[in-house]
Amino acid sequence: MVRHSAQVALLGVPFDAYSSFLRGASQAPAAVRQVMLSGASNMTAENGYVLDGEHGWRDAGDVACDNSKEDFDRISVRVSELLAAGEKVLSLGGDHSITYPILQAYARAYPGLCILHLDAHPDLYDELDGNRLSHACPFARIMEDQLAKRLVQVGIRTLNAHQAEQAERFGVTMHEARNWKPETSLGLHGPLYLSIDLDVLDPAFAPGVSHHEPGGLSVRDVIGLIQSIGTPLVGADIVEYNPQRDINGMTAAVCLKLIKEVSAAMAMSAPGQDAAESRG
Ligand code: MN
Ligand code: MN
Repeated sequence: MVRHSAQVALLGVPFDAYSSFLRGASQAPAAVRQVMLSGASNMTAENGYVLDGEHGWRDAGDVACDNSKEDFDRISVRVSELLAAGEKVLSLGGDHSITYPILQAYARAYPGLCILHLDAHPDLYDELDGNRLSHACPFARIMEDQLAKRLVQVGIRTLNAHQAEQAERFGVTMHEARNWKPETSLGLHGPLYLSIDLDVLDPAFAPGVSHHEPGGLSVRDVIGLIQSIGTPLVGADIVEYNPQRDINGMTAAVCLKLIKEVSAAMAMSAPGQDAAESRG
């Protein structure tokens, strides 16, 4: 077994105050840890990477969120601390609004970041219900603040006129579900941040989400995307798991599967390689 030098930290972010429709995503970190510790599955990714201390993986616990507006500062401060310690952060939401404060921290550490965003929704609203920090808006804020140089979206199947305009404004590369195929080349160049909204999956695979949008990707499709990322993966989040909507923990098991595959992909890129890519 190859020893990997990269450090990967799992960080729970129990925040769902900016969900527009249903609450419950704040319970996700606890529900996923329960499955992780249940013994139902081992902690080995498909390529043999083991999520344990020996291989540079650890659970860094939760951000101390209380669903107040101060939480965004708490999130970016905690992520910055982990990045300063040389760790790569895999955040487990929480609703999708948390990607904005996470990216505030990442942009400081990794200028010129590219984002791969998997979602049924573009999350590019200028505001929703008067809230510019809504879980429907994070990528509008990220692109306005120039926290990433490029945004590539996959799995979108709810594009309306306003969000199409926003996508145009921000130069988003969008692969809608109706056109996407597993062999579609995404042309990604590192360093890369991966944001996975679980509703990118068809609800048949992941019923435990607030917004059921049929016609989505399979779990295998998403694993295939993760395993084919050919550029340094420096950070990621898995968001919008809502345990209140789950059936027999099916979606929690999907979260754990994705945690394993994303961790393996993050661990495979050495820190030195990331630094070189950042400068390039
Ligand atoms: Mn979504
Ligand atoms: Mn989303």
